[in-house]
Amino acid sequence: MEEDLSFWAWGRTDRYPTRAMRQGLHAQIAAFLGVQPRPEREPPPVDTLDLPAPRIEPPPALAGITSTDRADRARHTYGRSYPDLVRGLAGDFRQAPDLILRPESEDQVAQVLAWAAGPGVAVIPFGGGTSVVGGVEYDGATRPGVVSLDMTRMDRVLEVRPTSLLARIQAGAKGPRLEAQLAEHGLTLRHYPQSFEFSTLGGWIATRAGGHFATVYTHIDDLVASCRMITPQGPWESARLPGSGAGPSPDRLVLGSEGTLGVITEAWMRVFPRPTFRGRASIRFEDWRDAVEATRAIAQARHFPSNCRLLDKREAMLNMVPANAGHVLLLGFESADAPVGHALDRCIQIAKDHGGTLLDGPHLREGEGRDGGAGDRWREAFLQAPYLQSALVTMGVMVDTFETAIPWDGFEALHDDVVRSVRAALKEHCGTGLLTCRFTHVYPDGPAPYYTFLGPVAEGRELQSWRAVKAAASDALVRHGATITHHHAVGRVHRPWYDQQRPELFAEGLRAVKRTLDPAGVLNPGVLIEER
Ligand SMILES: Cc1cc2nc3c(=O)[nH]c(=O)nc-3n(C[C@H](O)[C@H](O)[C@H](O)COP(=O)(O)OP(=O)(O)OC[C@H]3O[C@@H](n4cnc5c(N)ncnc54)[C@H](O)[C@@H]3O)c2cc1C
Repeated sequence: MEEDLSFWAWGRTDRYPTRAMRQGLHAQIAAFLGVQPRPEREPPPVDTLDLPAPRIEPPPALAGITSTDRADRARHTYGRSYPDLVRGLAGDFRQAPDLILRPESEDQVAQVLAWAAGPGVAVIPFGGGTSVVGGVEYDGATRPGVVSLDMTRMDRVLEVRPTSLLARIQAGAKGPRLEAQLAEHGLTLRHYPQSFEFSTLGGWIATRAGGHFATVYTHIDDLVASCRMITPQGPWESARLPGSGAGPSPDRLVLGSEGTLGVITEAWMRVFPRPTFRGRASIRFEDWRDAVEATRAIAQARHFPSNCRLLDKREAMLNMVPANAGHVLLLGFESADAPVGHALDRCIQIAKDHGGTLLDGPHLREGEGRDGGAGDRWREAFLQAPYLQSALVTMGVMVDTFETAIPWDGFEALHDDVVRSVRAALKEHCGTGLLTCRFTHVYPDGPAPYYTFLGPVAEGRELQSWRAVKAAASDALVRHGATITHHHAVGRVHRPWYDQQRPELFAEGLRAVKRTLDPAGVLNPGVLIEER
């Protein structure tokens, strides 16, 4: 058990906001929402948590990798979405896994799966536990037991092929550990989800995570050359190739499998030389539609900025990004090969042609490190935000996010509907609230809008109110044919809407694959497809 990780909140206990920060946050939210948040509620001590005794014991061969520690089991009960934080803060760990198993080899993964299949013990692959869609929680009431299979002891970069810019990396490596090992070779994966510090390569692949790049390399999918997964029926491994047209790609079935088909143990990843040339600028827009049109024009001009993050004025305010009370587009370029000034200048010009005014930049520089500009300030706020979310939950503020993607021609109608529906739900269930929007990724054919909602919520009604707002948002997405998730995965939370969007014949195919690879149905039951 990593002792400095909170059993209920985001991240490390020593990085939880200080009292002064929490007081500041309290005041800031009161100003935003126009109501005083509740006084803070303290989490219960670990020894008072509502946590049932383990129902099963591991086989003797696996005893050495087993934990039944209370805080460890609590920490493996949920992911880190709003309802997870609410239940954790309340000390409700009734559905804690019976055992945590931490394999150190593929053999041990195979042993766990072979042992579990007999009695039908559920096995939930667990990377960093940062799922926001109920991907790692399972009540297991109909099972003899539930095991959380924590992959973080398999965290090494095993092999690097500099000639091909490929690295073989174990699935349990968390972002910083993975990058530190690649840095020894002057390489980087440059996949930076907001959860980078605590999430793992295996989790990223299993959920098709979205990372740092706003264009081109948006999902982890683009960085996977091949992968290896241990299924209850044996290993599944794809060939390490730069591209192939030989039938449907086996990797495509692993990407997004969310722990239902097998346990990803390692992958050959496409890595990059570390970038040395950088450029950035920020552009202000008075009018949201102009800002959207400018962003579309930039995405379609195919200069492929690494950062092309459009923040609406509320989002900029919430994250304290300077924007003079307007909407702001953060542009960034990077290259390991050549200066990026030309592409940056061209994108700034496109933005100006659409009514934008330059707020900051262009700044060009060579070398590593940060320069403290608007992009860096955004990044700092971005990394601190999950800690603030946990603190807000203790003050009775509901705060959550959802993301989607839609072609440009459908965006305006979708956005209007989302704003209308979510605001109405916030009004009904919270009395008031705030909804903000940003584009995390942009494609030539459409944006990936990402929404944050906040509202004060009555004590005892947190989960009910959240469900209502979440449903209002998700129904709006489905009405417009926007995906139920661009990069947060399906898990258990998105299943009702995913089921509406997914073709039934495809679902049949998925069920058949699951029956073949996991005949006893022990792997992450109920995720992606219904539990048998
Ligand atoms: C504050 C915050 C910020 C976030 N930011 C982003 C973001 O920027 N981009 C993004 O895409 N997501 C983001 N997420 C969501 C989450 O971090 C991602 O889904 C991430 O990929 C999960 O990785 P993990 O290692 O924590 O996996 P877990 O949460 O442990 O597991 C997620 C799913 O993957 C399965 N799984 C995990 N490891 C394996 C394995 N080795 N083999 C098979 N299945 C496995 C699990 O069973 C589960 O279904 C964020 C979440 C939070 C709380």
